[in-house]
Amino acid sequence: MLVTDRGKQGLHLNPHLSSLIELQTLDLRIAEIREQRRKIPERLAEAEAPLREAARLLKETTDSVEALVKERRARERDLEAHESQTEKLKARLSELKTNKEYQAYLFEIEMANKKKGEIEEQILILMEKIEQMQRTAKDAQAKVTEAERAFGREKKTLEELETKLDAELSELDRKQRELAATIDKGLFDRYTKLKAVRKDMALAPVRDGVCQGCRLQVPPQLVAEVKRSTELQTCPYCHRMLYWDGGPVEDVRVAPGAEKADDEVGEAV
Ligand SMILES: [Zn+2]
Repeated sequence: MLVTDRGKQGLHLNPHLSSLIELQTLDLRIAEIREQRRKIPERLAEAEAPLREAARLLKETTDSVEALVKERRARERDLEAHESQTEKLKARLSELKTNKEYQAYLFEIEMANKKKGEIEEQILILMEKIEQMQRTAKDAQAKVTEAERAFGREKKTLEELETKLDAELSELDRKQRELAATIDKGLFDRYTKLKAVRKDMALAPVRDGVCQGCRLQVPPQLVAEVKRSTELQTCPYCHRMLYWDGGPVEDVRVAPGAEKADDEVGEAV
């Protein structure tokens, strides 16, 4: 959790600085949560991608099944038409008079039977293809169901995260507003402008003689003044407001914590 213990505010010789450090801690955490919050729709869309892909494949295979069935029906109609033609042809048998006509008739019948065999084979091939494609469609449907479940789980997780972040954010916003109200307006405006210009921190700790905002070495005299902490000092390079950080090295961006103030008192007094 955040270190926002107001009781430690007085530990800095400059109380303005304590409040600002605390405010920055809140602001950094707020920015972090907003960033996480902002990424949720993106993460949701990402989680949905496998489902969309599975659904696309299912549509593709069911469309193929439909197209093949349509083709099979067309072939079946061809076969019917062909058969009725053959029937008409056979009905002419009694009308035949010469041997020549009979020979021609036999040839036509042979041709008709050959054609019939071809259409029947086409139908068989189509039926096999349909069966195969139906199996593929069944697999695709199973994959869609699986992807739906996975997406549902991820969606729930993200929705829970969203709720949690929103709650944390509104709590932090409340604390931030309360704290900001206690800070001198001129100082608060300066802090806000610096924060906007620097895009991250308006305040930077000095550690080992280096401004942790711009990573440049600050003059020893300035380090000493920052350590005394009686007036607000700014970094000559990045113009961030400086504060003394005699504590152990840790990630100041997450928590330039007030707990380190205990050490500072010992050193500053
Ligand atoms: Zn600097």
